Amino acid sequence: SGALLEVRDLCIEFPTRRGILKAIDGISLSLRAGEILGVVGESGAGKSLTGTAITGLLERPGRIAGGEIRFNGQRIDNLPAEAMRKLRGKQIGSIFQDPLTSLNPLYSVGRQLIETIRTHTDLTPRQARARAIEMLTQVGIPAPEQRIDQYPHQFSGGMRQRVVIALALCVNPKLVIADEPTTALDVSVQAQIIDLLKTLCREHGSAVMLVTHDMGVIAETCDRVAVMYAGRLVEVGPVQEVVKHARHPYTRGLMGSIPKLGEEVEHLVQIDGAMPRLSHIPQGCAFNPRCPYATARCREEKPEFALAGRGEVACWLWDGVNPATDPDTLFAE
Ligand code: SF4
Ligand code: MG
Repeated sequence: SGALLEVRDLCIEFPTRRGILKAIDGISLSLRAGEILGVVGESGAGKSLTGTAITGLLERPGRIAGGEIRFNGQRIDNLPAEAMRKLRGKQIGSIFQDPLTSLNPLYSVGRQLIETIRTHTDLTPRQARARAIEMLTQVGIPAPEQRIDQYPHQFSGGMRQRVVIALALCVNPKLVIADEPTTALDVSVQAQIIDLLKTLCREHGSAVMLVTHDMGVIAETCDRVAVMYAGRLVEVGPVQEVVKHARHPYTRGLMGSIPKLGEEVEHLVQIDGAMPRLSHIPQGCAFNPRCPYATARCREEKPEFALAGRGEVACWLWDGVNPATDPDTLFAE
């Protein structure tokens, strides 16, 4: 299909004493080269788990129980650990919430950058050092020739996350998985870091899967957005379409959490209640206990993904019969 990343019907399970928990229940999504896809949802929706499975870092007892993950057309969900490790180093970079999980406190940032660069290129130590300094310059570290020999603890949280971005991008990965990359940072630097990530990935041609619970970040950063709820995908589409004309009642509720969009979203749906625990996913549509539009069908049958406008949605309000239905008419009070 030409997609850089293709996730099909992915299921992730956790066996427990009381039975098997379906943490991810049949997710399908794809990313094109250079595209920025936002994955959004409340905590516990399975966003991070999806990213973890793609990078091959899913930890036991969690396991992929169905579906497949393809990268450049090649299956990667069943790759041997060593092959996956190579792919992770060179083609798939990752950036996590806490920069310290990606950095070794015992090595200078320069040593970590240079080792990564040398592992994946034929550059000499001298060339690799020059490349490391260039990367630190690109991520906006002042006086990189001096700071390259400093240790992670000598950097502020925001500067450290810049170093992590440099580390993730120094080998020009085709895909970057960024999981809440700014959540641990001071609010004043969050926007700068997101901007930087976006700009650099565009320059390097890297596709990004940006996992976040912040619709504002998604709206300002991404090309497309995938909304998750209780281990399922509920809506996927071009970001402006989803932000302005969200079709899933849950997505419309999430819009209420947008801090700054420059324009007001009308007809906010108030979502009461909390996301169900994985051991208690309701039958039918997982959102039905919180949904003001739920019908008997929603409590019995799980909605399939169907085209709606320029995106796709899993909701019985759009069952493919009239995909063009205007959500603003439907949700108008
Ligand atoms: Fe609400 Fe039914 Fe749509 Fe689920 S399928 S979001 S319960 S209307
Ligand atoms: Mg998470």
